[in-house]
Amino acid sequence: MASLPKTMKGVVIEKTGGPDVLQYKTDLPLPNPSSGQILVKNDYIGINFIDTYFRTGLYPPPQYPYMLGRESEGTVVATGEGEMYGLKEGDKVVMLSESTYAEYTAAHAAKAVKVPKDMDPKIGAGALLQGLTALTMIRESYHVNKGDWVLVHAAAGGTGLWLCQLLKAVGANIIGTASTDDKVERAKKAGATHMVNYSHEDVKQKVMELTNNAGCIAVFDGVGKSTFDLSLDCLARKGTLVSFGNASGAVPPVTISRLTPKCAKLLRPALFGYIVTREEFEGYVNELFDFILKEKMDTAIHEVYPLSEVARAHGDLEGRKTSGKLLLDPSK
Ligand code: NDP
Repeated sequence: MASLPKTMKGVVIEKTGGPDVLQYKTDLPLPNPSSGQILVKNDYIGINFIDTYFRTGLYPPPQYPYMLGRESEGTVVATGEGEMYGLKEGDKVVMLSESTYAEYTAAHAAKAVKVPKDMDPKIGAGALLQGLTALTMIRESYHVNKGDWVLVHAAAGGTGLWLCQLLKAVGANIIGTASTDDKVERAKKAGATHMVNYSHEDVKQKVMELTNNAGCIAVFDGVGKSTFDLSLDCLARKGTLVSFGNASGAVPPVTISRLTPKCAKLLRPALFGYIVTREEFEGYVNELFDFILKEKMDTAIHEVYPLSEVARAHGDLEGRKTSGKLLLDPSK
């Protein structure tokens, strides 16, 4: 086993609140891999909107102190007992795990895979959680087919840009929304066929113009509270509204009869519900990596923030200042 320090840098919260509750520490105990776990020295830590939900308390943290983070890329430095799925010390891996806002994470081997040799680790680091979310949704929440008209809100966000790239690859007609002209351009570059700047343009009108008044057969809405009604309005008859997040706040309870006029379907999926087994996880990761390598997809990295500046990163994400992926560098 490589010689390991006793303490590490990391970020914890001891109460919920604004970015100021994020505490950067330099003396946290190194975690120990238990059965089925690997210990990973993180190179890059992915920031996701869900981290802000745990920080604010929208999703209550299970205990305090609580370490945020759901994904990272790094090197296996130790292994625990039990099934390691072929992973060993020295392997470069990407993984989905709790407690990744740190130099080291003890993660379940079942939710980690080797970074393919021909893939830039930074792309892998930024692809996993948001790329898998986009992929599972376009396969299972609504199976998107070539020629389908789909609406993607926050198309220039981290998940939004993966949706654009993957939907383009499957041949969908993509109408995206974004709040600035710069974001509009980024989403177009990623594959959005049409974009609407929803800070001043009428989304429903544009959708109806483009679809000959039919509407979109699927709407992917991670914005939540502020766009839910609009999403329902933009849906085609027999369409599917995939409401997958709360960037603007949680969607209030919905009266089921609102789905009746269009015989619409409404889903509130979570990535972690689609990749419960190793087989599901590995299957989707392989498919995502194939797409990335064959279609030359990219993680549009907004910025790599020093871990010590995590509060600035959260502020930027919640302040709608970002496009693409935010990463943390735990060495700084
Ligand atoms: P993004 O990078 O997409 O950032 C959020 C974007 O939402 C912003 O850039 C902004 O884009 C838009 N937005 C609109 N209104 C607001 C608001 N009031 N406050 C903040 N942002 C707003 O983040 P992620 O890709 O990490 O996540 C996107 C959504 O997907 C989130 O709701 C997240 O919870 C969800 N998600 C759900 C998963 C699941 O399993 N269900 C998994 C992964 C993500 P603009 O300025 O263009 O409006």
